[in-house]
Amino acid sequence: MGGPQTTPSADHASHGARQGRATRPHSECAGYSEEETPLSSPAIQSPLRYRRVVLKVSGEGFTHPGERGIAMDAVVHIARQTFHAAQHGVQLAVVMGGGNLLRGAQFTSGSSSIREATAHYMGMLATVMNGLALQDALESLGCDTRLMTAIRMDGVAEPYIRRRALRHLEKGRIIILAAGTGSPFVTTDTAAAQRALELNAELLAKATRVDGVFSDDPEKNPHAVLYSQLTYDDVLHQHLRVMDPEAITKCMQYDLPIMVFNFRKDGNIELAVRGERVGTLIRAKRD
Ligand code: UDP
Repeated sequence: MGGPQTTPSADHASHGARQGRATRPHSECAGYSEEETPLSSPAIQSPLRYRRVVLKVSGEGFTHPGERGIAMDAVVHIARQTFHAAQHGVQLAVVMGGGNLLRGAQFTSGSSSIREATAHYMGMLATVMNGLALQDALESLGCDTRLMTAIRMDGVAEPYIRRRALRHLEKGRIIILAAGTGSPFVTTDTAAAQRALELNAELLAKATRVDGVFSDDPEKNPHAVLYSQLTYDDVLHQHLRVMDPEAITKCMQYDLPIMVFNFRKDGNIELAVRGERVGTLIRAKRD
């Protein structure tokens, strides 16, 4: 899904956990090394705001700017940040995108030989390839993970079953959710909103290649303004390119906050998952 665009700057410090303070459960990630974690921000010392977070990682996080495919150094960069975030005791479900490999919509114009629905299924399979890459990268860091797919693929991954996913999270495993919703004509943003709601996540953290939501495409308009806060209504009425309207509407309906931030900046995933100020926060009301 698209790039960015957001609103007036403001502090979302009071935004806090909707369900109280998180405690630090045991994490099955092992081998945390201070050397690999050059984060020294004082903010990182503050208590956790969220107990459970869905992290949406776009496929573009797995490749270099302007390229396609899977670049393992990019995957490891995301994996390392995810690993550090999990070290704080936040339960993490990663919803994997596939745009670095294939998006169904790219076959809709000018091609009649592949039906659009078929292309969307191909896109869902692309997210599984990314999920496998992320799983290995996380496990190489010592994390216990489970890859779960919305389309059954025995021999490759577990089927996504909500109760089983919850059990993995409670055990401190990072779950990677691939194949989107399992249905064509939507994107993994919608899948992320859907999974966040059904897994009772307290935040949907969306990792993108820009700093948050802007008034215009910052890669084309140098005067685009970065918003630190927005409401769901702002996003929908101003047609800001954050996520599918369907995904935003779902979050709005259940007042699930969304944090949009830049994954390329080291430490941002960790900060976002901890509920620190990074990127743009979208919720029902601004401060
Ligand atoms: N897709 C789908 N149903 C879903 C999720 C994804 O059909 O529930 C397809 C869709 O074609 C989409 C592609 O998979 O374009 C890859 O996902 P997405 O574009 O969301 O990846 P991202 O932009 O996050 O990398």
